[in-house]
Order: sequence, then structure tokens, then C-alpha cells
Amino acid sequence: MLETKSEHVAPVMAAYGRFPITIEKGKGSYVWDSEGTKYLDFTAGIAVLALGHVPDAVEEALKKQLDTLWHCSNLYHIESQEKLAAMLTEHSCCDQVFFCNSGAEANEGAIKLARRYANLVLHKPEGHIVTFNHSFHGRTLATMTATAQEKIQSGFGPLVPGFKYLPYNTDSSVQAIKEDSECIGVMLEMVQGEGGVIPADKTWAQNLAAVCKEKGIPLIVDEVQTGIGRTGTLFAYEHYGIEPDILTVAKALGSGIPIGAFLAKKQISQLFTPGTHGSTFGGNPFSTAAGVATLEAFEKQDVLAKCTANANDLTMKLNEIKEKYPDQIKSVRGLGLLIGVETAAPAISIVNELRENYQVLILTAGKHVLRILPPLVTNESEIDAFIAAFTNVLIEHA
Ligand code: PMP
Repeated sequence: MLETKSEHVAPVMAAYGRFPITIEKGKGSYVWDSEGTKYLDFTAGIAVLALGHVPDAVEEALKKQLDTLWHCSNLYHIESQEKLAAMLTEHSCCDQVFFCNSGAEANEGAIKLARRYANLVLHKPEGHIVTFNHSFHGRTLATMTATAQEKIQSGFGPLVPGFKYLPYNTDSSVQAIKEDSECIGVMLEMVQGEGGVIPADKTWAQNLAAVCKEKGIPLIVDEVQTGIGRTGTLFAYEHYGIEPDILTVAKALGSGIPIGAFLAKKQISQLFTPGTHGSTFGGNPFSTAAGVATLEAFEKQDVLAKCTANANDLTMKLNEIKEKYPDQIKSVRGLGLLIGVETAAPAISIVNELRENYQVLILTAGKHVLRILPPLVTNESEIDAFIAAFTNVLIEHA
């Protein structure tokens, strides 16, 4: 029998540990809660809001789209979808794009595409894709299996076959892939975001790319968190001098309107022939209009240069704090405005104190890592406000 409904059971499933505020409004780097309290938002909706909340340029494009077309089926050409695909391919090493609705869906598609290549071209239908310890690729069954974290997978077995895990940033992984005759692809984040803000080592990443090339297997780069400017280049792989064969993006592409995409080089992407894959809302006129407006704003507002300047400023100031409070701050790391700060105190206590006492929002990435993700277009005075609040919290902890 169904349990009687109780006033103590909230109707929304409790899969998220939520903080006790309701966000009602956002603009730029700020949000306001239902009581009118203003917060400095250095979570950017978890790396979504490159241009900040409700950016004028995207708002205008969406208002225009509201008046013309909200949705149409993928059986017809969609102008904004084709425009966004052209923009993404022009600025990446890939030739074709498939649009979907989220990071997990993009990674699912990327995995399917790699398997299709393994089946039809490599003739290895039983092969596996290598992913790395502490990775994060999503919460659907295949992407959860690709995610080599026990705490994400626990209680959700059986897992999907066809994955193998190796250590990140370790030469032995390159050697293991080299010797693995059943490896059909390698999937990684250029900076492990959820896994603790850990950038890939440059030489290691280059060796991985070289081994993939040598074996003729696709290198799949998950740029759901790093992509669309977060690290100061449109894609993080650009820092590494490597070229993925399959690339996934989501989060920041739509400035908050749900969108995801996977891109691939033509010899792989051409294997998705009519009827092989689909997504009702994928590439919808509304979400792709948001994507086009976002990328246009990147160019017009010189967002990548702003990201790099802000990242340099924020990282320098965090390093100064680290010098001052070496017992409390163990390391400052990351790439661009994807910044991790390793703390002696539990990261969640710092997150809570910043929110409750200073109206500043940041995230954790593990028990002792703070994740700081401002909008890419933040500025010096917002950075200084964050630094002042953070310093106060550290002083209170000392
Ligand atoms: N890949 C990476 C690297 C991510 O950081 C995330 C989300 N944090 C995902 C995939 C999943 O994206 P989504 O929540 O949009 O499914």
C-alpha cells in the first residue's frame, strides 16, 4: 500500500542537499532570494553563466525568439541550430555537431558515437572505453558508469558494460592503453571539476592523445564544465596542444537555457546516418538561439580576454591569502575561472559561513576543496568583495 502523504514529506525528491534559501531573481554576478537579500554568486549556476545572470544580449535574442518559433521537430532544418553548429565547428577542431539537452545526454551521445565507430570501423563490438579515476561524466546509466567515483555509482548497479578505469595524470595509464587491444576510446576532462578541480598534466594529455592517434581510437574530451570559455579559451583542450576526435559541451553554451552538444571529426560523425540517434528537444530553436546569442556576445564583449584577466587577478589574490594563512589554505589550483582552493577546514563550513554571514555563494568539489566559478565577465570590485569576505571567514576560523 502507498504510504499516506505527510506534511513532513516535501513533494520534490530529496536528491539534492539544498541550502535554505530560495533564489528569485538574478542579474550579472548577483542573485536575490525571496526575502530580498542580495548575494554575490560565484557559482555561476555551476559553470553555466559565462555572461552572468540574465545577460542583455541573450535576453534580447530570446525575446525575439519567443515571438517567432519556440519549437519544431528535427525533421526540418532549424536556422539557429545550423548557425550554432557552424559557429562551434568554426571555432573547434571538429566538423559536425549533434545537439541535445544536457551534459549527460551529450556524453551519452559521444559514447554511442564512439561505440558505433568501434562496431563499424574498428570491428571491435566488445571493446571498452577508458575513463579516469575521480572523473565526472553525468548521472545517466552509461555516463554514471563512465564516472569513476564509487560514491556516484553506489546503489545503482548493475553498471553498463564497456568501461575501464585508469589513474588520471599517471604515465602508467598511457602505457596501459598502449597495451590494451580492446580499448576503443579514451574519455577525459581537461580539468576534473567535480573530482576536485584537478587540471590534466600537459605532457600526460599529449601522450594520451598520441597513443589514441597511434591506435586509431577516438580521444573523447568532456568539456561540459570547462568548455565555452571557462578556462580562458573557448575549449580547454586548446591549452594542451591536442585535438579531441569527439568533444562534448553543455552548461555555458545556452547561458542558462538547457542545451548540450557533442561534436566530432567527420570520419566519425558521418556514422550517425538518418535514424541512428535523436532527441526531441535537441537543438530546439529557443535553446540554439540562446547559444548563438551567447557566442556572439563572447566576440562582441571580448569575454575570453576578460576571463583570463579576471582569472589572473583572482588567482593572484587567492595565492596572497594562501601565503598569509598557510595553515588554512593548502593549495590554489585550476585553469582560468575554474578555480579550486584546498582547505584544512571542511569546505562545506566555509561555503555556509560565506553564504550566511557575507552573502557570497561558492561551491565545494569534495570534502576539502572550495570551487570558485564566477561569471567570466566578473570584475575587479566583485573579486575584491569575494576576497574580503573569504579573508574574514578564514580569520574567524583561525
Ligand atoms: N560532465 C562534466 C565534466 C560535468 O561537470 C557535468 C556536470 N557537473 C556533467 C558532465 C553532467 O552534465 P549535466 O548535469 O548537464 O547532465
